Amino acid sequence: MSCTGRFAPSPTGPLHFGSLLAALASYLDIRAQGGRWLLRIEDLDPPREVPGASEQIIRTLEHYHLYWDGEVSFQSQRHALYEDALQQLIDQGLAYRCQCSRSQLRTRDALLAYDGWCERHPPPASARCAVRARYPATPLTFSDRIQGQRRYPATPGRGDFVIFRRDGLFAYQLAVVIDDAEQGIDQIVRGHDLIDETPRQIALQQHLGLATPSYAHIPVLTNAQGQKLSKQTYAPALSPSSSDVVPLLCRALDLLGQQPPAELRDGSADDVLAWAVAHWQLERVPRRPGIVVAADGGAADDGPRAEEG
Ligand code: GLU
Repeated sequence: MSCTGRFAPSPTGPLHFGSLLAALASYLDIRAQGGRWLLRIEDLDPPREVPGASEQIIRTLEHYHLYWDGEVSFQSQRHALYEDALQQLIDQGLAYRCQCSRSQLRTRDALLAYDGWCERHPPPASARCAVRARYPATPLTFSDRIQGQRRYPATPGRGDFVIFRRDGLFAYQLAVVIDDAEQGIDQIVRGHDLIDETPRQIALQQHLGLATPSYAHIPVLTNAQGQKLSKQTYAPALSPSSSDVVPLLCRALDLLGQQPPAELRDGSADDVLAWAVAHWQLERVPRRPGIVVAADGGAADDGPRAEEG
């Protein structure tokens, strides 16, 4: 049976080596199974968007020969789907309006675990509100294909989460769940920084009667301080015209535990990717949250290793 995966970057900056690693892992995992690989630009949050980043990400993926199937999709063009799901959740009593600000929340709970206040005290119709979905009162478990069994304890009456923001934007949690379902994504491979978002996504899938895809969270690349490589930690942007395509793909394969043979470094990008698809072994991907590397993805000096999973 054919399967579908995706890469879903937010255009908050150009592609860097850490995001290339996530793109490559999801690409290889789905291609090795003969499946489809989609590209979805998660441009949900215009204030955080960097002008030109979507185009740069698309060109850079092409430059690294990571070709997707079909058209690129953009979340900014899919609001009607999110609106329908939001309404359905509200109508079914699975989501409710909330006018609590972060500072009000902080005075009630230092951990910002939502205590259901606005469910018990519904805001007036005129109030500018977020919408929260209910988080289940029972433990939630899932089996990550890389990180193993994950168990999230029950938080009765707490932890209802935002699916529509008070500033009028749809939240990531809602959009990602709707899109993954609507696009037929059944296998998700992404960075470990998103692993603890997964139970909320599963909760939404259950509310909406949607299938839960399989999840595999690869380690994120971090600096010696354990911070994820990103624009904020000065990871250099990958250029859509650089000449380092083969060395970087090989380096990414090393980090994914795939052990590419040395002679591959003399081949073309297509040779590297063809080898990597044919030899892909998910079970070789390191089972831990992070891998310490230098900012450009090169080997770290003697920096401490990220915590073992
Ligand atoms: N757009 C998210 C990000 O760039 C990734 C979403 C996902 O893979 O679920 O961090």
